[in-house]
Amino acid sequence: AKAIGRGNYCFYEESVDKAQEERRRLKLDLASALEKGELFLLYQPQFDCDTGIVTGFEALVRWRHPALGLISPAEFIPLAEESGAIVDIGDWILDEACREAAQWDNPLRIAVNLSPVQFLEDNLGSRIAETIQRHGLAPERLELEITEGVLIEDEARALDMLRALRAKGVLLAMDDFGTGYSSLSYLRQFPFDKLKIDRSFILNLQTDPQALGIVKGMIGLAHGLDIPVLAEGVETESQLAMLRLEHGDEVQGYYTGKPKPIDEYAALVQATAGQ
Ligand code: C2E
Ligand code: CA
Ligand code: CA
Ligand code: CA
Repeated sequence: AKAIGRGNYCFYEESVDKAQEERRRLKLDLASALEKGELFLLYQPQFDCDTGIVTGFEALVRWRHPALGLISPAEFIPLAEESGAIVDIGDWILDEACREAAQWDNPLRIAVNLSPVQFLEDNLGSRIAETIQRHGLAPERLELEITEGVLIEDEARALDMLRALRAKGVLLAMDDFGTGYSSLSYLRQFPFDKLKIDRSFILNLQTDPQALGIVKGMIGLAHGLDIPVLAEGVETESQLAMLRLEHGDEVQGYYTGKPKPIDEYAALVQATAGQ
C-alpha cells in the first residue's frame, strides 16, 4: 500500500510540474500572440426581455494557439494578467470591438470586458476616449464590463477612475454580480448603468427555490436603485420565462444566442438597422 501511495505522490508531483510548465509556455507564447494575429473576438447578443429585440453584443476574446488549438479566455486571461500582456491585449480587444460596432448601421451597444489590471494604468480613460473617437463610435454605445476586482486594490482610486470613465459618456456594467463578497457596498458607492447577474444564479432557477429567491432579490435591489439588470447564462426557455415574470430587463445566454463570429449575426444586426 505504501508503494502505491508513493507512486501516486510522484505522479501528482509530475502532473503539477507539467501544469506549471504548460502555464509558463502559454505565458511566453501569449507575448507574441497578438502580433501573430492569433487572437480574435466572438460576439454574443443581448436581448430585451419583454420585446425580444437585440440590444447589443458582448465581445469575448479567443486565442487560436498554433499547436494547442483554441484556448479559453478563462485559461489565458489570468496568465495575461500575471505577465502584464493584458494591457496590450486589452487595448487590442477594445480597438477591435469599437471598430466593428462603428460599422453597424444602428445604435446597438458593444460590451467589452475590462481586466482589473487594465485599471492599474493611469491613462486608461484617455486611451478609451481616444479609441472611440478614432472609430467615430458614440460613447454611450460602449459598455465596459467590470468585476468588483477593480475595486479591491485601491478603492478610492478605482472609484475615481470609474467616475472619469462615466464622465466620458461610456456605460459601466457590473459583471458577475452576486459572486463577490462586497458587491452591495460598491453599488452604494458607484451607480453602475447595469448589473449582470452571474450565470451561477440562473443555472438552478427552475430547481432551486433559493436561487429564485436570490434572483428576485437582486432584481428588486437593482430596480430600487434604478439600475437595469441583465441575466447571464440563460440556457432554457423556462429560465427566460421566469426572468420575464420577475421583470428582468435583459438576457444573454446560449438559449438566445451563443458567442459567434459577428458575420454569423449579420442578419440580427441588420434586422434592427435604423432602430
Ligand atoms: P464573463 O465576462 O462572465 O463572460 C461570460 C461567459 O459565459 C463567456 O465565457 C460566455 O461564452 C459564457 N456564456 C454565455 N452564455 C452562456 C450560457 O448560456 N451557458 C454557459 N455555460 N456559458 C455561457 P467565455 O467567453 O469563455 O469567457 C470566460 C471569461 O473570460 C469571461 O467571463 C471573462 O471574465 C473573461 N473574458 C472573456 N473575454 C474577455 C475579454 O475580451 N477581456 C477580458 N478582460 N476578459 C475576458
Ligand atoms: Ca462579461
Ligand atoms: Ca459575467
Ligand atoms: Ca463570469
